[in-house]
Amino acid sequence: MAPRRSGLGLEAKGFKLQFHKGYSPGCKASYPCLGFDDAHWEVEPYGRYTRLKFFIKPVSADCNLACTYCFYLPKADLYPKTRCHRMSDEVLRELIAQSTALSPDGVSFCWQGGEPTLAGLEFYEKVIEYERLFGLPGQRIENSLQTNGILIDERWARFLAQNGFLVGVSLDGPKEFHDYYRKGPSGEPSYERVMRGIRWLREFNVDFNILVLLNDRNVKYPHELYRFLVDNGFHYLQFIPCVERNPRTGKPAEYSITPEEYGRFLCAVFDEWIRDFPRVYVRTFDELLLAYVRGEEPSLCLFRRECGSYLVVEYNGDVYPCDFYVEPKWLLGNIMEQSLDELLASERFLEFKRRKVELAKKCKGCPWLWLCHGGCPRHWEMFGLDHNYFCRSYKTFFEYSHQRFLKLKRLVEGMTYR
Ligand code: SF4
Ligand code: SF4
Repeated sequence: MAPRRSGLGLEAKGFKLQFHKGYSPGCKASYPCLGFDDAHWEVEPYGRYTRLKFFIKPVSADCNLACTYCFYLPKADLYPKTRCHRMSDEVLRELIAQSTALSPDGVSFCWQGGEPTLAGLEFYEKVIEYERLFGLPGQRIENSLQTNGILIDERWARFLAQNGFLVGVSLDGPKEFHDYYRKGPSGEPSYERVMRGIRWLREFNVDFNILVLLNDRNVKYPHELYRFLVDNGFHYLQFIPCVERNPRTGKPAEYSITPEEYGRFLCAVFDEWIRDFPRVYVRTFDELLLAYVRGEEPSLCLFRRECGSYLVVEYNGDVYPCDFYVEPKWLLGNIMEQSLDELLASERFLEFKRRKVELAKKCKGCPWLWLCHGGCPRHWEMFGLDHNYFCRSYKTFFEYSHQRFLKLKRLVEGMTYR
């Protein structure tokens, strides 16, 4: 069940690049893996999916922290009958049985929340048991866990290492940034507990990356933030821009970042990334480089032509087309009542996929459309804009980075194929 590594290796000028065909949590390469996640679905002529990707919410929005900016905590209102949401054994079994049967080449499960470790280690032992039971010969099954790191201890770290999980840990930078918004239910700080969890991951050589939510505080210090992460030995990074709507004013919530701030941040961190290339993996940049090199659309969903590159499965088996659209309007159905096959073919899902293509028509004439494809629809719809909230950020960044991406592309193309 260990993740398979496949891809094209390139070597030049004293360093190597590895082009993985897919997401490779087990990779122990000392150099960054490009092509981090080509999780789009390849539909074969006879209509079977070769690689499905799921974001699973085994505890729904339940969490042991209460971060100010969390967009998922309010989803608890969708399931008010109980305060404690846990995926049952029946739902888990059905999910793994159906998805493995439907996607013979591989399946990717990203366990997230809320805080997915609240499901308990025994739940994930069941996950592995069912993956072994239902997995097909030669099928690649990948597991990743997106966690706040608080509950990670020796037992968890050993299990994650033994079973090849890739872990994403949320850390917003140094203590003063991290503790500002990432607090416990009584306002208690979380930084020290997260760092303790990370030490356990390191102790057991678990592959992990750091997920940084860019908010109104840390976004102003791109160089300091980047250096803090890299100096702490974190070389696999993902920066996620935070923008939420204040329901009272209809304007961006106070912790949101502005398009100007995000544009400036991307440019500043790009300079750092280039300096460190290829030692540090920054997901947005590495994925864009791959798009330059391959001439294909990037694999990050927000830069893809269409939405619908994964499904979200809630604790009770409800299925939605996107993490940001877990709402009644976009409920596709429930796996205990309908097959995944049916849900994927449903008119609602197809409509969801098409929405982005429709929005991006407004971007006609933009020189960066081939890279951006209009960005994430949520960033259009949240404030009822006729453009993407981050459009200016993207344009600033694409203009700033283009020549250097071309240089990197030439460098990569000039390398010797292994
Ligand atoms: S709505 Fe945004 S986050 Fe959701 S699939 Fe589309 S691009 Fe991705
Ligand atoms: S940069 Fe702006 S106009 Fe261009 S494709 Fe992206 S969102 Fe559309």
